Amino acid sequence: MNYEVYAIKYAHHARRASENFIGGDAHDGPMPLDYFVWLIRGGGREIVVDTGFSAAMAAKRGRDHLRCPTLGLKMLGCDARAVKDVVITHLHYDHAGNFDLFPSAALHLQDLEMRYATGRFMGHECFRGAYEVEDVVGMVRRVYEDRVSFHDGDEEIAPGVSLHLIGGHTMGIQAVRVATRRGWLVLASDASHFYANMEQTRPFPIVWSVADMVEGYRKLQRLAESPAHIIPGHDPLVLERYPAPSSELHGIVARLD
Ligand SMILES: [Zn+2]
Repeated sequence: MNYEVYAIKYAHHARRASENFIGGDAHDGPMPLDYFVWLIRGGGREIVVDTGFSAAMAAKRGRDHLRCPTLGLKMLGCDARAVKDVVITHLHYDHAGNFDLFPSAALHLQDLEMRYATGRFMGHECFRGAYEVEDVVGMVRRVYEDRVSFHDGDEEIAPGVSLHLIGGHTMGIQAVRVATRRGWLVLASDASHFYANMEQTRPFPIVWSVADMVEGYRKLQRLAESPAHIIPGHDPLVLERYPAPSSELHGIVARLD
């Protein structure tokens, strides 16, 4: 089974390179973040990876909101209300808002991520800063509705689609490996925010465990067909390196397979 995989940009944030690496950057300059959700499609399945944030959250956090992630999915003919499987790579606000817009979906989450987001470490601002308590509480409510599909480590969720515990950035962040026509593709999400983090082994400063983050770069490489098959979570280069599926979607959607 080979799947189509799409990156859908929904927001943007201007910042400097020194904010994207532990220890800063000797050649500091602009190094903005793009915000994405991803769609995996094939064999009658649609699997969405992450749910993004709302316009209200963008205003609260000072990010540029370009479109609701569900609108981006709609541009590809995917109806968020009907999607059956949503992978939440981790519970940070830019990956786990909006999940009420996916009322039919099972939410795939690592055990360790729920433990981290609801446990003792959230008492520290340095660990909880990228979490929104209402997103986390919302996920707890979904647990009580039996809508959360928990995973412990590495598991297949469909033929040719598997989840892989990485850790590092958060305790329970997971990456997604997908069979495509060009081989094994890995959606790293924030296991590597930019190509530069993993390619130069320069860790991103929002981090639970630097050791696990750096080891995670190696795990991503083991999972992927080649380094060029790893898709970082926030790098604007993704939209430059991969083609849009149609001219109207240029600058919004990249086809990754
Ligand atoms: Zn992120």
